[in-house]
Amino acid sequence: MPCDLAAIVALADRHGLPVIEDAACAIGSRIQVGGEWQRIGRPHGRIACFSFHPRKLLSTGDGGMLTTSDAALDATFRLLRQHGMSVSDTVRHASAHVISESYPLVGYNYRMTDIQAAIGREQLKRLAPLVARRRELAGRYLAGLRDVRGLALPHEPEWARTNWQTFAVRVAPSRQLLIMQHLLDEGISTRRGVMNVHLEAAYPAGSWRAAGALTRGEEAQASAIALPLFHDLADGQQDRIIELLQGAVAAA
Ligand SMILES: *Cc1c(COP(=O)(O)O)cnc(C)c1O
Repeated sequence: MPCDLAAIVALADRHGLPVIEDAACAIGSRIQVGGEWQRIGRPHGRIACFSFHPRKLLSTGDGGMLTTSDAALDATFRLLRQHGMSVSDTVRHASAHVISESYPLVGYNYRMTDIQAAIGREQLKRLAPLVARRRELAGRYLAGLRDVRGLALPHEPEWARTNWQTFAVRVAPSRQLLIMQHLLDEGISTRRGVMNVHLEAAYPAGSWRAAGALTRGEEAQASAIALPLFHDLADGQQDRIIELLQGAVAAA
């Protein structure tokens, strides 16, 4: 679900801070900015980062993409991607003149392979119908689960058109795992969907600071259940999930 990027960018601008958008799962989502619908990744901040991991709506097997409108950053990213090499091998091979590259900075091998890129370009052609089907399925979940007591549904703000990468409902924290287990017993796989880095051993107390309590994130981790949602989920399969979820919530 897109965040209120317009507000975040305005706030960051007032303080001279660059905004780096975690758009990892946002390909195909849109937000309204100044009365106009715009794609996530335009970018709205300085850089937007996308993931093409298999769990995402558009996948190249793995890997990702950065977008920026800052020409200097773009040039730096291209250097960092390919060993800090000033002139790419493709340009050198195509040149009628001998060119020697230089290495102005320490770079890496972050290249996406041509094969992955070719897959990505084909996937991109399918993006609009994929998003349309997901939005249809999300609408069916919203309608089918509207009256279930003990279940809070996700809300799409007026100014957002999410790709529904994730459709997560909320339940009482004490019932989250019970409901997930109940569904798994019926062959329906769900996920918590939300993780809090500050609760993980990798980031022990003392290694981070927060301005206040982080209860919103903690509540989300304890109460969210991401339901199955993929473009070739059939209506009948989804109806079964809705029915089993209703039963699981009532039984938990
Ligand atoms: C998937 C995801 C990531 C991680 O993407 P990788 O390609 O595995 O690095 C980061 N942030 C969000 C919000 C994601 O959905």
